[in-house]
Amino acid sequence: MIPGPIEISPAVAEAAAAKPSSHVSAGLIEHFGSALERMRTVWKAGPEAQPMVIAGGGTLAMEIAVCNLLEPGDRALVVNTGYFGDRMAEMLDRRGVSVDQLRCEPGQAPSAEQIAQALDAANYRAVAVTHVDTSTGVRADVESVCRLARDRGVLSIVDGVCATAGERFEMQAWGADAYLTASQKAIGLPPGLALLVFSARAAERRASLTTKPPMTLDLHQWQPILAAYEARKPSYFSTPATTLIKALDVGLAEIGDIDAAVARHQQVADAMREGWSTLGLSLLPEEDLAANTLSAIRYPQGVGPELPKAVAARGVAVAGGLHPDLKTQYFRVGHMGYSARRPDHLLTTMRAVGEALGACGHSADVEGAVRAVASRI
Ligand code: PMP
Repeated sequence: MIPGPIEISPAVAEAAAAKPSSHVSAGLIEHFGSALERMRTVWKAGPEAQPMVIAGGGTLAMEIAVCNLLEPGDRALVVNTGYFGDRMAEMLDRRGVSVDQLRCEPGQAPSAEQIAQALDAANYRAVAVTHVDTSTGVRADVESVCRLARDRGVLSIVDGVCATAGERFEMQAWGADAYLTASQKAIGLPPGLALLVFSARAAERRASLTTKPPMTLDLHQWQPILAAYEARKPSYFSTPATTLIKALDVGLAEIGDIDAAVARHQQVADAMREGWSTLGLSLLPEEDLAANTLSAIRYPQGVGPELPKAVAARGVAVAGGLHPDLKTQYFRVGHMGYSARRPDHLLTTMRAVGEALGACGHSADVEGAVRAVASRI
C-alpha cells in the first residue's frame, strides 16, 4: 500500500510473467496497437494526439517530455508542489532552459490566480506541473494550468505519475501538451514502462527544435513506429518491452470506464480520510487539495517514523515521508489501482495502521475507523 509500485491484479501479473514474444509477432502487434488506443481513452486525448510507450520509469517520461518540447535558451515555469517539482526544475535546467518556479508551502498548491499571474510575468515556452505530488499528497489545479497556458500560447507538461487513471484529467478538453505517467501506479502494472501522450501542438514544437532530443527519446524517431503498431503493422526502431506491453493492454482494459475509475478513487479516498480522522489523524495537504490516489498523514504527537515499521509488522507496507522539509513528520498510504477495487486491502490497511498506532503508544478507535471505511466503500 505504498504509493507505487502498487499491488497488481492476477490478470496483469499473469500477463507480466509470460514468456517474451517477438516485437513483430501478430500477438504483440495487436496488444501494442490496442494499448495505444486505450491510452487515448484513459487520457481523454483526441485522435491527433500521439501516445508513446517506452521501457523506463516516470523520470524517463519527464525527460522525454522536456527534451521534445524545450531546448537551450527557452524559458519555463514550474508550478512546484513538492519533491517532483524540484526534479522537473532540475531537469529543465540541465536541458539549458531558464527556469522560474512558483513555489508554495508543503501541503499547499498555488491558486489559479497565482498561476495566471506567474504565466504573465515572462515569456514562457512551457509550464510544468505535477498533477499529484507523491511527496505531499497534494493535487494541483491542472485544469487551470493547462487552460491558462493554452490561452497564452504556452505549452503545458503535466507529470501524472501519481494521478493518471485515479484523478480527473481531460487532455483534449483542457488543451494539455504532454501528459506523462509510469506503469507502477494507478495504471496497475509492475514498474518498467514510461507512458506519455503528446498533443499535435507538442509534435509541431518538436519539429521546430534546433537542438534535437537524444535519439531514443525523440518523438520523431518513435512516431512512425507507434503509428505502424496502431495500424497493426510490424515495425522496428528499438526493441519494445514486449511482455510489459501485453500487460499494459490487460491493465488498461481492467481500468474500464475512466470516469467510473476516477469516481471509485474519489470514493475510496473519502472513505480512507474518514478512517484516518476516526483514528485521530490529520492530513498534510489542505482538505480540498488532498489527492484521490494517496494519503499523506501527519504522525500524531509522540509518534514518528517507527509507525511504518509497526504497520509493516502487521503485514502491510506503507511509506515514510518524502518531502525533504518534513520527512520525519508524516507517512504515506497509497490507495490506487487494483487496491482501490479491493475493499479487503483497504480495511486491512486501516486496521494495521490503527493497531500500529496503539503499539506506538497512541490509542485509537481502530474498530470505529474500520467501520467508517467499510460503510463508505
Ligand atoms: N513524478 C511523480 C509524481 C512520482 O510520484 C514519481 C515516482 N514516485 C516520479 C515522477 C518518478 O517516477 P520513477 O520513480 O518511475 O522514475
